Amino acid sequence: MSNSASARHQAPDDLDALVIGAGPSGVVAARVMAESGYRVRVLEQGDWPNVADYPSTKLERELIQAGPWNPNPNVRRGPSDYPVNDSDSDIHTFMFNGVGGSTVMFGAEWPRMIPSDFRVKSLDGVAGDWPLTYEDLQPYYEMIDEMLGVSGLGGNTAYPPGAAPPQPALPIGRIGRIAARGMNKLGYQWWPGTHAILSQADGSRPACSRWATCVAGCPEGAKSSFDVSMWPAALAAGVQLTTGARVREITVSQQGLATGATWIDRDGAEHHTSAPLVVVCANGVGTPRLLQLSTSSRFPDGLANSSGYVGHNLMMHPTATVLGCYEDDLQSWLGPIGQPIWSMQFAETDTTRGFRRGSKWTIAGIPGPAELIQRIYSLPLSERSGMTGQEFAERFTGRAFEWVAQIEDLPEFDNTVTLDPDLVDSDGIPAPKLRYKMSEESARALDWHIDRLTEVHLESGAVFTHRVDYMPEVGWHLLGTARCGDDPATSVVNGYGQSHDVPNLYIFDGSVFATSSAVNPTSTIAAFALRGAEHLVENAAEQRIPL
Ligand SMILES: Cc1cc2nc3c(=O)[nH]c(=O)nc-3n(C[C@H](O)[C@H](O)[C@H](O)COP(=O)(O)OP(=O)(O)OC[C@H]3O[C@@H](n4cnc5c(N)ncnc54)[C@H](O)[C@@H]3O)c2cc1C
Repeated sequence: MSNSASARHQAPDDLDALVIGAGPSGVVAARVMAESGYRVRVLEQGDWPNVADYPSTKLERELIQAGPWNPNPNVRRGPSDYPVNDSDSDIHTFMFNGVGGSTVMFGAEWPRMIPSDFRVKSLDGVAGDWPLTYEDLQPYYEMIDEMLGVSGLGGNTAYPPGAAPPQPALPIGRIGRIAARGMNKLGYQWWPGTHAILSQADGSRPACSRWATCVAGCPEGAKSSFDVSMWPAALAAGVQLTTGARVREITVSQQGLATGATWIDRDGAEHHTSAPLVVVCANGVGTPRLLQLSTSSRFPDGLANSSGYVGHNLMMHPTATVLGCYEDDLQSWLGPIGQPIWSMQFAETDTTRGFRRGSKWTIAGIPGPAELIQRIYSLPLSERSGMTGQEFAERFTGRAFEWVAQIEDLPEFDNTVTLDPDLVDSDGIPAPKLRYKMSEESARALDWHIDRLTEVHLESGAVFTHRVDYMPEVGWHLLGTARCGDDPATSVVNGYGQSHDVPNLYIFDGSVFATSSAVNPTSTIAAFALRGAEHLVENAAEQRIPL
């Protein structure tokens, strides 16, 4: 027990901190605080995932993923899920609600943001600068990589120098070699993937045996979903975890400080947990929902929302793909499913292309026939059904992969998460409503990138290519709705995740992103949470919080 933590031990619930959400940001924050001697409790609306339920090892995997294991909670409709009104959104949300959060379903691609991502306003005159730099975050990226056992190859030319990932890269496989052939012919940068997946056994966790079913739940625990990679250490440090606990409201004192949270258990009973510090880690949709549910006379427009920015600037990474089919057997059912190789060749702004910022390029295997047919859904029915569809599937299953362009969308104030006036979850709590319109600039960017990626496939020897102009279903990165910044008038939290309005309220999930970068966000979410929680603990004695 640190001195600061024991001095703070006043709360009726005997806690030093309450964390909402048991995904990556929640467990990292809880672990850091507990290892510093804080008494920490985490409230999570979902349950522990059950490996036996994972579709990954089942023959009917693709069918289960289309229904009860769908990453879209509106399709999945599990008891832990809340509905999301996405009728006014160009992209639908993907998320998993349970211990480990959305990483139970994630692809475990583990890129970092690049230095320019933190300075978009200074460099491009748009969006905003982050109140921290790549250099500020770099040691935390490296610490998280060590904690998880990240695999990859050091020295990626797209990044400043730094420590290599602790484990060797996973094999790039035949699809990686074929993709690299086209990239080399065109003189483009590429690199073997960095993954939150073990390439070597670590303790009780085995090395990846390349099932390629990462998003269907890793059957063996080689993928570092945070239930297996981070929760055991958090529990060992003393974190208390309550599952089946859906938070309805963060409560505040008359002085405007957070006092804890009111939550509903699975039987519908209401509870209140008090704590002198509240940390919100409910993701870029769940967090603004919760802040907007937490109104009071002091915060009539939602907690921590004097700026009016809570729920605004939702960013979701518009994504397009180009399917490439080859005559060679590419064994494209071998994992890792995402990012055997990837490229940051076109991640930086070049306005001669007609848009600002850029895209991350990555390849992904197409492991099964249903996914293959799904990729050509925009062709006339006669070209993808009956004997024609079957012949296509038989010819190209195992011989196809896609190049994926995931573009950096800029924050738009009118892209929002608000409370739906009618839709409620199973506890009667208002559900979030999304308004997300992809900008014309984003559409231009997608077009430009998929033209280039088609060229790469052809240089690699593809005999058939098909572009999916954008994928409305894949809103797996939920960012920007409680942005960080130095100016309290235009941001919700500072660079350590501390609310400008409520000094004992912290936010560490993807909602704090000031800009979206083009890369997958979870390494940055985890590094930001680690840095913020460490800062919180180190500066506890100086905080102006009456405890
Ligand atoms: C299919 C899929 C593939 C992905 N692939 C990648 C990838 O390859 N690489 C990458 O970097 N990222 C990927 N992601 C995104 C990644 O999973 C998220 O960025 C990450 O999990 C976000 O962490 P978080 O802590 O912010 O939120 P989450 O992981 O979403 O966790 C939030 C938790 O809060 C809980 N919660 C929310 N509201 C409440 C409430 N009111 N009361 C109690 N609990 C609540 C939820 O149940 C949930 O468990 C993918 C996501 C999906 C779904």
